[in-house]
Amino acid sequence: MEIRVGSFEVEVLYSRRKTIGLTVFPDGRIVLRMPAGEPLENGRRFILEKEGWIRSKLQVGEERLEDAEAAGGCLSDAELRRMGDEAGKDLYRRVVHFLPIVGVSIGRVTIRCQKTRWGSCSSAGNINLNCLLMLAPPEIRDYVVVHELCHRLEMNHSPRFWKEVGRVLPDYRERIAWLKENGPAIMNRVRR
Ligand SMILES: [Zn+2]
Repeated sequence: MEIRVGSFEVEVLYSRRKTIGLTVFPDGRIVLRMPAGEPLENGRRFILEKEGWIRSKLQVGEERLEDAEAAGGCLSDAELRRMGDEAGKDLYRRVVHFLPIVGVSIGRVTIRCQKTRWGSCSSAGNINLNCLLMLAPPEIRDYVVVHELCHRLEMNHSPRFWKEVGRVLPDYRERIAWLKENGPAIMNRVRR
């Protein structure tokens, strides 16, 4: 069900939850989740109370969209597939290169196109790398690979972990700064 509250178009979903919940999605969709039997009037009031919060969320979503547009717009499925293939070769080569330098062994390497993280390493030693790294410069790809490999030595971000990253890539801080600055716009090019 769609309702209009002030200037907001709101999608209302009833469920078995106990309290009213509100989500503003990056694409501007507003979803109100209501406990079964809750009067709609309470939902409307809830939205009005949260008006400022909703507006700030919508603003952030709009800015992100603009960033993504500036970075080249949304990626098509075909583009993501192609990037996944390229990443399979390029990132894997980097993993193989850095393995003896970090001095660890790993399990599987999986390439995923995702908008939440650049890479991860499981306690079993399986490494995930984001295909969107193909939109970042080579030295940034190296950094993410080294970061995940170093998690085979330290499963945390302790000083010992960063010391190891720094041993392999002394300028790693600059690479992190690049990712902080430019990473979100790249990730926002994925629609999902
Ligand atoms: Zn980490």
